[in-house]
Amino acid sequence: MNLPNLTKARKRTRKEVNRIDYKLNDLYKNIGKDKTYHVKTYGCQMNEHDTENIEGLLDNVGFTKCDDMEKADLVILNTCSIRENAHNKAFGMLGRLKHLKEERPNLIIGVCGCMAQEEVVVNEILAKYRHVNFVFGTHNLFDLPRLIYENMDNSKTKIDVFSIEGDLVEGLPVRRTNTFKAYVNIIYGCDKFCTYCIVPYTRGKQRSRKMEDILKEVNELKKNGCLEVTLLGQNVNAYGKDLDLGYDLADLLEEVAKTNIPRIRFITSHPWDFTDRMIEVISKYQNIMKYVHLPIQSGSNRILKLMGRRYTKEDYKILFDKLKKIPGIAITTDIIVGFPSETEEDFLDTLDIVKKCQYDGAFTFIYSPRVGTPAAKLYESDKTTLEEKEQRLYRLNELINNYSLESNKRLLNNCYPVLVEGLSNKKGMIYGYTETNKLVNFKGNSDLIGKIVTVKILDAKSFSLDGEIVE
Ligand code: SAM
Ligand code: SF4
Repeated sequence: MNLPNLTKARKRTRKEVNRIDYKLNDLYKNIGKDKTYHVKTYGCQMNEHDTENIEGLLDNVGFTKCDDMEKADLVILNTCSIRENAHNKAFGMLGRLKHLKEERPNLIIGVCGCMAQEEVVVNEILAKYRHVNFVFGTHNLFDLPRLIYENMDNSKTKIDVFSIEGDLVEGLPVRRTNTFKAYVNIIYGCDKFCTYCIVPYTRGKQRSRKMEDILKEVNELKKNGCLEVTLLGQNVNAYGKDLDLGYDLADLLEEVAKTNIPRIRFITSHPWDFTDRMIEVISKYQNIMKYVHLPIQSGSNRILKLMGRRYTKEDYKILFDKLKKIPGIAITTDIIVGFPSETEEDFLDTLDIVKKCQYDGAFTFIYSPRVGTPAAKLYESDKTTLEEKEQRLYRLNELINNYSLESNKRLLNNCYPVLVEGLSNKKGMIYGYTETNKLVNFKGNSDLIGKIVTVKILDAKSFSLDGEIVE
């Protein structure tokens, strides 16, 4: 039994990262023969991509993917711990799975992802959800075949979670959701320790992949017809800092651009590590998409300091203005309302920065206390009621939605390349994204999925556009 420990997870040393090449032990080669699996994913793109690796690992040992969870022999929940509601969803699903296991005692249930890295969660699983066969963390995902092999017939819940800084595993099998669009990890973990955030504890220290490994993956994807790569990390702008090899995100973006893959995206950016050279490279290459997600979190300098964000609203605005000089660029953000001790005045500062930046869009959240983080202690004496926080969120969203609508309206009657991703809910309609990551719905059929088409924008709403193909 290896139990998570948040105190250990917080530790950072200067120890070099252990780089491992994935190799499957022959013992596990056929453990999935005649069995099916279903993976349920919660949370961010990082988790979505982890699921692609989990599915790749399962395919590799003979399992077959099954879209219907109720029929699968193995169900894995890949969880997220960023806010309380993500926790609640996963626990709700575990409740549902309890009934399923009563009907089918041979069902194997695994839990992984960020929640698995938390002591409170694992203790709750051990106390109330004994139908779970095994729990593994973000650091030993590659070990999944062994965990299944050893726990298939196990009646006791086995916990295998490590609270370490983390290794870096290359060559994991992957089952990509799309052939035309792919996530590519460039950096794992985070060392920023924003006071509200659980990620540095659940994902380990900042560790960059070597540039040659990333380029190899991008070239391979391009060879197989991929049109868009998204370079992934909790803070992609810190890329390379831990490597001491003399390159950073600007260099990486430039090299990825030179592969001539048609579309390059990158998420998420932390304002602290954004350099002028990165901005130059983004403007220089036509295949680097003119879209930046630049979380501000709050417009109050007092709150930003309490959050440990390492910038003031003035620093942020200077960076924002530099990025805005790139023609046609779209910028979105993340904002937390109701951080402990946030006053009406602090909140008005947030509204003010939103008015100044006029974002293309934003993800907005009510602060959610995460056990073990410094802000959770501040929360204990927080006087603001949930009702006030909900009111602030409502006011913020109204403002944000107006600016999103305005920015979408500016696209009306113009034509843009759109990468078609799938069928819309409406019959006969398909959808895709512009270079600036705007969602567009238009008439078309499934033959166009995975192709870049030119679309004229005919109608604009806050969260999407309607258009028609012009070629
Ligand atoms: N690494 C990114 C950054 O620095 O902005 C963001 C990663 S996090 C997965 C996505 C967003 O969740 C954050 O930008 C923040 O707005 C939000 N978030 C993180 N912790 C939160 C918390 N405890 N309560 C509410 N929102 C939170
Ligand atoms: Fe969390 Fe992002 Fe801050 Fe890292 S930089 S601690 S992931 S909010």
